Amino acid sequence: MKEGSKNRPAKTRRPHTQVVTGGRDPAAYHGFVNPPVYHASTVLYPSAEDYVAHRAHYQYGRRGTPTTEALEFAVQELEGPQCAHVALLPSGLAAISAALLSVVHAGDHVLVTDSAYAPTRSFCDLILTRLGVTVDYYDPLVGAAISELMRPNTRAVYLESPGSLSFEIQEVDAIAAAAHAKGALVLMDNTWAGPLYFRALEHGVDLSIQAGTKYIGGHSDVMLGTVSANSAAAADLKNVVRFSGWCVGPDDIYLGLRGLRTLAVRLDRHCQSGLAVARWLEARPEVLKLLHPALPSHPGHALWKRDFTGACGLFSIVLKPVPQQAVYAFLDALELFGIGPSWGGFESLAVPFDCAPVRTATRWAPGGPTVRFHIGLEAVEDLLADLEAGFAALAVAACA
Ligand SMILES: *Cc1c(COP(=O)(O)O)cnc(C)c1O
Repeated sequence: MKEGSKNRPAKTRRPHTQVVTGGRDPAAYHGFVNPPVYHASTVLYPSAEDYVAHRAHYQYGRRGTPTTEALEFAVQELEGPQCAHVALLPSGLAAISAALLSVVHAGDHVLVTDSAYAPTRSFCDLILTRLGVTVDYYDPLVGAAISELMRPNTRAVYLESPGSLSFEIQEVDAIAAAAHAKGALVLMDNTWAGPLYFRALEHGVDLSIQAGTKYIGGHSDVMLGTVSANSAAAADLKNVVRFSGWCVGPDDIYLGLRGLRTLAVRLDRHCQSGLAVARWLEARPEVLKLLHPALPSHPGHALWKRDFTGACGLFSIVLKPVPQQAVYAFLDALELFGIGPSWGGFESLAVPFDCAPVRTATRWAPGGPTVRFHIGLEAVEDLLADLEAGFAALAVAACA
């Protein structure tokens, strides 16, 4: 817990309270509700002796400020008592690369889920391999059989559950147990659920990663990443972040803190609206199937129900086969759904995608064109009317 904080231990508070109170201590900053935004490089020391002995809580802007700590401690509290350290990075992808670099050594082998965010694969294939690390991809549904893929030099197993395009739910506890049994560390991209809906460290994950760009920011106006480490992984994470020189600008951290205060209510609404739109889409004649783990039709639904406490607003659909131009006509006809990357903001989005080019351990053959939706905070009725208009445009284009 933060120095000078009047916060009681995290376990006495529920997540909806933690996002409001975490990392805040108004008494430490003149009663103002929010922490100040320290724009800082140099820190002045009280004496030459203190300077030489590095005797100061804050030593240099890059090393952290009260603003940095406020967000770190707030995320740490949400992750639960097993979280020993949170590092802030300038993007979700930077959080992924920092987490991986903190565990691998030359000569190591890393197992990465085939459903991983595509730039994660590029970092592994283009950067890690150059450092003498070998990378293999595995079927996200592998479960405890991951042990059969492990080699004596397997240092890390990397998960992303659900995959953020394809939505396979992984058996996190079983994979983590198998990985630990053979001496590997477990990393997970937990951006979809975040600690409010899945406390990754309590399921055996050593390093849990979030693209704070998504729901923590929540307003499509900031790039941010977090890595949360347990005590087995904290020291190496601290070193790699500190000595790579990564730090996040104070205004971006402030946007993260500001977003965090409303994270729980926003996620609740994304969850409800996402499910309502998904159920409506599932009943449409144009739709072959939904890829949404909170729907009973999803093959990972039982696992999701066992492990997760909610679903965010992100899911995909598989359309019945139509020409790609009809899919484009559908998307172009939508007024409330923007076409663009990223997600987690207040606004709805829809993008076409194809996982086939980035799969190596599994075959991606969903049976029709695929579209990923992010359901924002608009009224569901308006979103459904928009989708209805989109399907009308799809029908016209399909006949053309
Ligand atoms: C967006 C995203 C990232 C990367 O985050 P950036 O902040 O855009 O770098 C990583 N993982 C998942 C699952 C994402 O959706």
